[in-house]
Amino acid sequence: MQSNLAIARSTIPGAKIWAVVKADAYGHGLENGLRGFAAADGLSLIEYDRAVRLRDLGWTKPIMMMQGMFDSADLDLISQYELQPVVHNVEQLDMLSKARLNSPIHVHLKINTGMNRLGFLPEQTREAYARLQAVPAIGKISLITHFANADKQSVSPDVATQVAAFQQATLDIQAEISLSNSPAILIHPEIKGDWIRPGVMLYGGSPGGVDAASFGLKAAMTLSSRVIAVQSIRAGDSVGYGSLFRAERDMRIGIVACGYADGYPRHASTGAPVLVDGIRTQLLGRVSMDMLNVDLSSVPNAHVGSDVTLWGDDLPIDEVAAAAGTIGYELMCAITPRVQRQVRL
Ligand SMILES: *Cc1c(COP(=O)(O)O)cnc(C)c1O
Repeated sequence: MQSNLAIARSTIPGAKIWAVVKADAYGHGLENGLRGFAAADGLSLIEYDRAVRLRDLGWTKPIMMMQGMFDSADLDLISQYELQPVVHNVEQLDMLSKARLNSPIHVHLKINTGMNRLGFLPEQTREAYARLQAVPAIGKISLITHFANADKQSVSPDVATQVAAFQQATLDIQAEISLSNSPAILIHPEIKGDWIRPGVMLYGGSPGGVDAASFGLKAAMTLSSRVIAVQSIRAGDSVGYGSLFRAERDMRIGIVACGYADGYPRHASTGAPVLVDGIRTQLLGRVSMDMLNVDLSSVPNAHVGSDVTLWGDDLPIDEVAAAAGTIGYELMCAITPRVQRQVRL
């Protein structure tokens, strides 16, 4: 995580970094995020209880709340813990106008440049900015937007269109700006900005469109288990629920103690890559709650107790995700509490 952060820093020299630690640091554990990203300039997340935890654990640098206040009670936490909310809708502007805050807060005005999830439209930006300026308790106002297609070529709205909309909307406003997520940082380093907001790349995951490893990014998470049974099956035999896999020849299969109750995707199908004793083989048949089945044809020495890597540095999470019709982001976040964590420093 440290070295991935250093890569983000050297990719956009001079930009400050919000290390994104939402969803418990993309499933890696908030405290691990705190430790791994100690050199970041700020931490950015959604969840108020986790933000308070970051302060309790000793983080004194900025914290951005990327969805802002959900209700006015959040304002107390914002002043008490010096959190910096995003302001993305009129309801939040109203909340701030009515609030009685004792200390000045720093807010981030979000502009909707085409993503159409959160933010004020370009033509509403000036008025929203003026309303924020009129709130005595607001100290500093920064500007942010978010890209819909930083990982794709020629899908509208493209990055250039969103950057142009952002520039147009903020033409006569002097403020710090933050635009780029991981794919924008890696694919469009020319965009820069005062701050960048890398998430998945800091965990070694590939945003769409690029291969994290080709940038020197390393997987922070390895999901591993062991073979707990070996079966020799005959041509015509099947394995697991629904008999989704049926052997065309006699073969050995390994049963691995990992299933969808651990966060391994049930949608992964036969052929998804798995490492057994470091040798690449494949998932067979249906993933069940606590187990999955692997082909041992290419691993003749595999036995009960053999090491299994479901994803990690030697097996990109993105490849497993692709075999399950999803993205690495979802797999990282979905590791369940029963999985034992081992932190390697
Ligand atoms: C999650 C998030 C990011 C980080 O996105 P990655 O693709 O993981 O880099 C950045 N900005 C905002 C607003 C986000 O919600």
